[in-house]
Amino acid sequence: VDRCPFLADPGVPQRRAHRARILSPSGREAVIDLREPLRVFRRSDLNSLLQKRAGRAGAEIRFERITGFVREGPGWRLRDASGREERADFLVGADGGAGISRRRLAGDVALPGRSVGVGYFVQGYTSDEIVLRFLPDLDGYIWIFPRPDHLAAGICGPPGTGAGNLLIRRLEEFLIDHLGVSSLRRVVRYGANIPCYAQDSAAPPALAGNGWALVGDAAGLVDPLTREGIHQALESARLLAECLCAGNARGYARAWKEGTGAEMAWAASHKGLFFSLPFIESFTLLSGASASVGHVVSDLIAGRQEYRTLRRRLTRLAPRAAGALAVSALRRVLPGRRRFPPAGFFPVAG
Ligand SMILES: Cc1cc2nc3c(=O)[nH]c(=O)nc-3n(C[C@H](O)[C@H](O)[C@H](O)COP(=O)(O)OP(=O)(O)OC[C@H]3O[C@@H](n4cnc5c(N)ncnc54)[C@H](O)[C@@H]3O)c2cc1C
Repeated sequence: VDRCPFLADPGVPQRRAHRARILSPSGREAVIDLREPLRVFRRSDLNSLLQKRAGRAGAEIRFERITGFVREGPGWRLRDASGREERADFLVGADGGAGISRRRLAGDVALPGRSVGVGYFVQGYTSDEIVLRFLPDLDGYIWIFPRPDHLAAGICGPPGTGAGNLLIRRLEEFLIDHLGVSSLRRVVRYGANIPCYAQDSAAPPALAGNGWALVGDAAGLVDPLTREGIHQALESARLLAECLCAGNARGYARAWKEGTGAEMAWAASHKGLFFSLPFIESFTLLSGASASVGHVVSDLIAGRQEYRTLRRRLTRLAPRAAGALAVSALRRVLPGRRRFPPAGFFPVAG
């Protein structure tokens, strides 16, 4: 939103989430008040908004499927599905994780960090909180994001045969537990492969070459921890545009790797730790018990906390967080004001 302030315009349909509910594999729960609302957009609204703005800025928008391209001198010749051909000086592959440009330009068939994301649009419900549910044996998580007139619920995990169906079953179980079985009555399924930043940070993705560049999912720039890629798609496109305008196409890969790319490389190399049970359990416990750690989580969700400085910030907070944890443990152990009868019990008349 800082980079694209027009997204804050209340005229753009969006839902604001004010809380995050984090559920750990053991069932621990942390509810965090977000320091700034998380804006959730319907993808079709976001896409058409960006497309209209591109058109107003001078881009010529054509709804054609590119079926192939070949080198022609210093430039390219492209063919679309109607058989029409056209020349271009510079080629930008922005055709997502399943597109043709990555394979043909970067020569990669499969991305090492691939994930699968599947989900349901749950009609008839919305809320003002996001839910993140971690599971004991999953390198991934379940989410529920409220949109203006429905919930986007999803789950991500590693790819493999039947992975999508196995994941959707786990999501269904969670939705039944969390929202009730009626939530599954009006759902629309969605899903796709998610091309994450490569686990092996020594082999960062090929972003550009002579007369071409890749942006967004086509370049495999998705955050391997959150599996979010919209920010990276917009950011890589912005950097490339700046470099092209400055006549410095070669500067693009360097600019990416020094900025958001360094964050993604950190994320890729810490994935094992992030999804380990001890980390998720203690993170949930501390986020719920300590307001300061809750602030860190809020900043992470807002994209304001860099991964690379996360450890330093948490270490600084450790004494305060330990204090808060001790107080919350004492509250549970020491007799406070007696509640009688305890919650859930009530006296029977007579
Ligand atoms: C289930 C799921 C949930 C997700 N949730 C989130 C989220 O909450 N937040 C987040 O940040 N990210 C999320 N992501 C990741 C996010 O969707 C992607 O990272 C993001 O859409 C990448 O944008 P992109 O423009 O690079 O690619 P895409 O959004 O895939 O766009 C590529 C476009 O290119 C077009 N195209 C493809 N081939 C051709 C061709 N040959 N000719 C012409 N056009 C072509 C496609 O039709 C498409 O419109 C999610 C992904 C999945 C699968």
